[in-house]
Amino acid sequence: MNGARHTGLLHDDGIRAMRVDIRAIAAHAAQVHGLGEVAARLQADALAAAALLSAYLDDTERLTLQLQLEQPRLALTADVYDSGAIRCRTTPPTPRDAPMLEGILFVLKSVRGREVYRGITAVHHDDLGQVLQDHLHGSDQVPARVRVRDGIGVFVERLPGQAEDVDLDAVLEEVWNGLEGGEAPLFWQCTCSREKVLTMLSTLGDEEIQAMIDEDGGATVECNFCRTETVLGVPDLQALLTS
Ligand SMILES: [Zn+2]
Repeated sequence: MNGARHTGLLHDDGIRAMRVDIRAIAAHAAQVHGLGEVAARLQADALAAAALLSAYLDDTERLTLQLQLEQPRLALTADVYDSGAIRCRTTPPTPRDAPMLEGILFVLKSVRGREVYRGITAVHHDDLGQVLQDHLHGSDQVPARVRVRDGIGVFVERLPGQAEDVDLDAVLEEVWNGLEGGEAPLFWQCTCSREKVLTMLSTLGDEEIQAMIDEDGGATVECNFCRTETVLGVPDLQALLTS
């Protein structure tokens, strides 16, 4: 379940280009979440979009892309870490298809668990590449092009005052087929752990934990992102009680 992000400068360093290939990651993620065709396509587009945006991470540890769509009715969260680790969740698995995307896009950047940036873009577009282009540059005088499709994402940007005679659409087509340049790994990996589950449960309070012990004889917690189940027995839960 690996992918890659390539970045490079083209046309006498006047055009910055980026290409991500997350096809294997998207296929795996669709399988993990049991997605039908519509949700799988949107999830692949969102993962490619998040992987492109993560190139702007700099000192950011995590980039989160959230889509809350009315059309098709779907909620999606994709996280990309500075290591290249990617995870996502999408519900429901089989929404009804829609001719256009309608809803809201959130882009969040976090450092050490603290949100340091939040961008909100209204979604009323044919596809996610157009949404991303609006998010990055607004809708006027766009010096950049974005396309995400089938697990591939491409971003090309004219640097200020450079390569003014170069057709960005032509560069996009060129880069779509491949880009030589710096390579960074992208891979499917969740950040959940047994310790995090225990920390989360410890915030519930004794009454609720005691109820899990008495009524359920333990607890099973499934991660929304990777579907891994953490099974806790009575001794695990008893250790969380504060009195
Ligand atoms: Zn997980």
